[in-house]
Amino acid sequence: MHPMVKPALRRGWRDLNTVQFGMTPAHAMTLGPMDLATGSFLDLLNGTRGLELLREEGRRMDLPDGHVDKLVRGLARAGLLDDARGGGPSADALRKKKEVLDRLSPDLASLSLTTPSPGDAIGQLAARRSQRVQVRGAGRVGAVLASLLAGAGVGGVDVVDGGRVEPWDVAPGGLPPDAVGDRRDESARRAVRRAAPDRPPRRAAGRASPEDGDPGFSLVILAPRDDVAVHAPDPAAAEPLMTSGTPHLYAGVVEGTGVVGPLVLPGETGCAGCLHEDRADRDPTWPRLVAQWRSGKQRQVPPPCDLTLATAVAGLAAAHALAFLDGRAPSSAGARWECSVPDLHWRTRPVRAHPTCPCAAAKRGKGEHLSEDGESHETMAVQRPSEQCREAEAERPAGTWRAHV
Ligand SMILES: [Zn+2]
Repeated sequence: MHPMVKPALRRGWRDLNTVQFGMTPAHAMTLGPMDLATGSFLDLLNGTRGLELLREEGRRMDLPDGHVDKLVRGLARAGLLDDARGGGPSADALRKKKEVLDRLSPDLASLSLTTPSPGDAIGQLAARRSQRVQVRGAGRVGAVLASLLAGAGVGGVDVVDGGRVEPWDVAPGGLPPDAVGDRRDESARRAVRRAAPDRPPRRAAGRASPEDGDPGFSLVILAPRDDVAVHAPDPAAAEPLMTSGTPHLYAGVVEGTGVVGPLVLPGETGCAGCLHEDRADRDPTWPRLVAQWRSGKQRQVPPPCDLTLATAVAGLAAAHALAFLDGRAPSSAGARWECSVPDLHWRTRPVRAHPTCPCAAAKRGKGEHLSEDGESHETMAVQRPSEQCREAEAERPAGTWRAHV
């Protein structure tokens, strides 16, 4: 082990005995008591020396016997220590690709803030290279999202969509202006290749069929350009994914509202079917409206989806996708994050496992648990279409209600 104090966090002395690592409340912590000699020894923990050499340096600085080991253990316990040689063979392979690692170094530093053990951060970053993700939909959201995942080191990012690039599909970080008129899927895959810090591993070069819910994908992201599909995802469309047990995440923009979630872990968290049943319970007219939206005429003009909203959605969805791929449980499991123009204030709504949904997540009892946080309840309390609320609204003139679904 070549111990290294995580370089992502700035250091400062709070007083003569206490060091603060980091500036922001989310990741800063203090360590003490620490004397000045130990404090200056921290500078030697920069990943260039092994433990043996560090002990030698400690003796030279007249630090007491065992002090260096105690310090290293303490830093590791506090999650402040990295290992410049850790992370396993795939991390070693990544270290050899200096240009790739230079590109990913801010992502690596960011991962070091959320991984507790030495070597974990680069281990996770290297593991992304072997992950395979499929993004379905290559509009303003999907193409940017796919490029973000590739840029963050995910080795296999496939994009599927139909048709040709329209002028309004163009977005910074996504489909470029010179792709207008080209096939959407091919252009999006080109954008993905351009965004990737490295050539993809050979295995990921092949392309799976879009309908088959290929179990080879760690995650499928549904980012439809069609706004009805964003607002009311069709459970039938996700059936092959449910059957094959493929985790999938919804993301998109509908009429100036951005949506991220739910992340569906089939049979464990609420799915598109659960969402539909729950909405039908709350609003008996929901199925009637959905039927009209789905059978309605295609829009003659592009749907409202401004660049900042589309990019915010792509960013949050990519962050949740990466969290899932890195082995964490993002908050979109069992919930939908939504934000609307003009202020893009994100709020969450639970997607509870529904008892009549064939996905059987309700039987596992996990879906509901995942969405049981205070904020969700608060949001629901405001937006729940209670009978009382409906009566009050019924007195208003037609056309002035706030839609509650
Ligand atoms: Zn379900």
